[in-house]
Amino acid sequence: MSTNPTIAVVGSGPIGSTYARVLLERVPGARVVMFEAGPQLTDRPGESVRNIADPGQKARAREMSQGPQAGAYRESLGIPAGTVTEGMFTARQGTHLLDYGGAGSAHATSFPAAAAATNVGGQGAHWTCATPSPAFSEKIPFIADDEWDELIGSAKELLHVQGAAFADSAVGAAIRALLDEEFGAELPEGYGVDTLPVAGDPQPDGSIRWAGADVVLGPLLDPESPLSQQFELRDLTLVRRVELDGNQVTGVTVEDLRTHETSFVAADIVVVAADAFRSPQLLWASGVRPQALGHYLTEHPVVISTVALDAGKMERFATEEDLDAELSRRALNPADPVAAVNRIPFSEPEHPFSVQVMYSESTPFPMEPGAPYAENRWGYVNMGYGMRKHPRYEDAVTFDDSEPDYRGFPNMTIEYALTERESAEIADATERLRRAGKALGAFVAEPRLMPNGSSLHYQGTMRMGESDDGTSVADPWSRVWGYSNLVVGGNALIPTATAMNPTLMSVAIAVRGARKAAEELGQGKA
Ligand code: FAD
Repeated sequence: MSTNPTIAVVGSGPIGSTYARVLLERVPGARVVMFEAGPQLTDRPGESVRNIADPGQKARAREMSQGPQAGAYRESLGIPAGTVTEGMFTARQGTHLLDYGGAGSAHATSFPAAAAATNVGGQGAHWTCATPSPAFSEKIPFIADDEWDELIGSAKELLHVQGAAFADSAVGAAIRALLDEEFGAELPEGYGVDTLPVAGDPQPDGSIRWAGADVVLGPLLDPESPLSQQFELRDLTLVRRVELDGNQVTGVTVEDLRTHETSFVAADIVVVAADAFRSPQLLWASGVRPQALGHYLTEHPVVISTVALDAGKMERFATEEDLDAELSRRALNPADPVAAVNRIPFSEPEHPFSVQVMYSESTPFPMEPGAPYAENRWGYVNMGYGMRKHPRYEDAVTFDDSEPDYRGFPNMTIEYALTERESAEIADATERLRRAGKALGAFVAEPRLMPNGSSLHYQGTMRMGESDDGTSVADPWSRVWGYSNLVVGGNALIPTATAMNPTLMSVAIAVRGARKAAEELGQGKA
């Protein structure tokens, strides 16, 4: 290892950014080179596109994120018609389907909504910023609670998490009061109806500046900070291979997508944080093929609905003036789908669900004028129950060396199925969603299960484990088993069945991995 180590980071999303930040803050003289296959969208790299005020610029930034297919396969971008019609997760622009049906497309008939974002900041430039913490069996069993709590605290700081966003909204409080009447007595202490933590910085006008990879990078983007001199971000640069000498990583071979020139960049550590499908694909293409690679794929199934808030019920807890105040606040950023967000967190054994309840003055789908509850004065909630998917080896992305994908990588096939175990929890959650809807008003979109892949929270494909027994890819510090200087990051590391949005958890795991890597570099061991 050199005195001034070089760390190559593949992928510029929140996880790659966590590694860059923690390593540069901890290893004096280190240099981080971050490679990102997609383009830079905003002047400040990695900013959430939701902060772009101009609708035309916002649309353009989303389109630029839709992968190399964006030009050639325009008509097949987005969720396929017929599988999803409308939903609470409306901000799907900015992503591109893996199975888009054109030449070089992945095969994912049993996981059709699988999608990715290809841009500086990754999916983190498009995310909804919901940042609940894992609880009970969602947590990683081999990390002690004290350490875990500290890691989650650090992850919250990196992502600028607000515990009480929109807590002052009287409309939000009324929704909580109604849900609490319905469910409060069934929920354990500390896991009741609450506001949903979100990642962003409240602004003086009551709006929020949403967090992206930019806030995680923090001082690395500040020209005044010496750390910015040690950080280099190369956009439109595709990492083609992680290069190895035996079980030591020596660097990466990269292709400049502007010139198509290929070059080798030497590195003391390589961090692969290129999402839960493309990271295992890159490892596979590089000849790193642990038995569990790509397997144990999970996501949380989601049942969603839209409910028109009932004036009579809401007026028990909020006034017309409160509603006017909420509507004026909403008018400040009308394109932003997130306002007064509430939740019921996961708890065991009675409530293994993560519930998200998002207020909006309009529905996420057009309603016929004059239809019942169209232009509902008290607005709507988009409400979803996230459930667990219990990990199984056979739910997997596999790679075919003989069939190149559109980028020339071994193509992906995703095989995935929900079992009776999931079906029982889905039925239970759907029943509760009906109760929640009745407590708040009337359904304008009935509860329904979204197609597989809709959550955008893909986990398990590079899962971490306590021992190298063939059921995990990475050790408890995120190093690929057998390769001390090859580190992996992202939701793919999560080995447990979770019901919640996973990014905060993955940042916490990355903080642990980065601290360990920094320690090893400091001791000259990497
Ligand atoms: P990503 O953000 O996916 O970044 C990976 C990057 O790697 C990409 O930019 C990609 O282009 C790049 N890359 C891939 N291959 C290569 C290569 N070979 N060479 C160079 N670069 C490469 N999560 C939550 O927790 N809460 C939410 O509310 C939430 N809402 C979401 C809403 C939407 C619409 C979307 C799209 C996602 C949402 N997510 C949410 C998920 C969240 O954005 C991801 O969990 C998070 O971005 C993962 O971070 P990451 O750094 O691991 O990967």
